[in-house]
Amino acid sequence: MSRSEQRTSPENVPKTIIVGGGWAGLSCAVQLAKAQYPFQLYEASRQLGGRARSAKFGQYQIDNGQHILVGACQGTLHLLALIGIDEKAVLHRQSLDLKWRHLNQTEQLHIKAADIIAPFHLLFAILNANGLNLKEKTNIIKFLLYLKIKKFTINQDLTLTNYLKQHSQSERLIDFFWEPMCLAILNTPITKASTLIFFKVLKDSFDQQASYSDSLLFKQKLKK
Ligand SMILES: Cc1cc2nc3c(=O)[nH]c(=O)nc-3n(C[C@H](O)[C@H](O)[C@H](O)COP(=O)(O)OP(=O)(O)OC[C@H]3O[C@@H](n4cnc5c(N)ncnc54)[C@H](O)[C@@H]3O)c2cc1C
Repeated sequence: MSRSEQRTSPENVPKTIIVGGGWAGLSCAVQLAKAQYPFQLYEASRQLGGRARSAKFGQYQIDNGQHILVGACQGTLHLLALIGIDEKAVLHRQSLDLKWRHLNQTEQLHIKAADIIAPFHLLFAILNANGLNLKEKTNIIKFLLYLKIKKFTINQDLTLTNYLKQHSQSERLIDFFWEPMCLAILNTPITKASTLIFFKVLKDSFDQQASYSDSLLFKQKLKK
């Protein structure tokens, strides 16, 4: 056995301490177990799962923190496969199809991706969107091209609302297009969302294969 093999073989590796049994800690535990490396996991609460967990409210068992995934969540999908869960058994996959209506407005936004290669699936979705006029569609496409040239990065983070206002996105576009996108993608109000994180997810979901922008809806409860 070579010196480097001796150092990395499981019996020579010191025990890893994992603090927290949420998805991140549990993913880490699965990977270490797979590599047969010793570890110890500490969780402060009585239940594993962290923010994505099932809790009892009276007679109801309520799931929290896992409503939707996108096709770009490759790490999560690989992890499911690794622990022997068939994606089709637990998730319903559909291509991007977002309908949105503000509470006090009658107008509806509907964007639906076509079954064609990326990024044309998204281009199709924007050009055919119901609820946006031609000027708004052109504005969104120009903005996305600008982001692609900038490699979806910015020098200093700011809230998504502020960034969009600084980049000629109208109030209506922000309310009607970017806000639902932000809620769907980050589960965070646009006035609080980090532009950096939003762009990272935008890049992962829309600048890769078309299937990365699919929605994956849970078919099963967290706890049987
Ligand atoms: C309402 C809601 C809806 C969501 N919906 C979605 C969704 O649809 N799709 C999606 O992808 N994501 C969703 N999320 C986000 C997702 O649930 C989280 O990103 C994910 O669960 C975070 O996992 P984590 O392991 O990083 O952190 P956490 O889940 O926060 O886990 C951290 C764990 O560490 C423990 N801990 C902290 N400090 C210590 C300590 N000192 N010692 C021991 N233990 C400690 C905590 O008790 C906790 O269990 C949602 C979140 C919420 C709240």
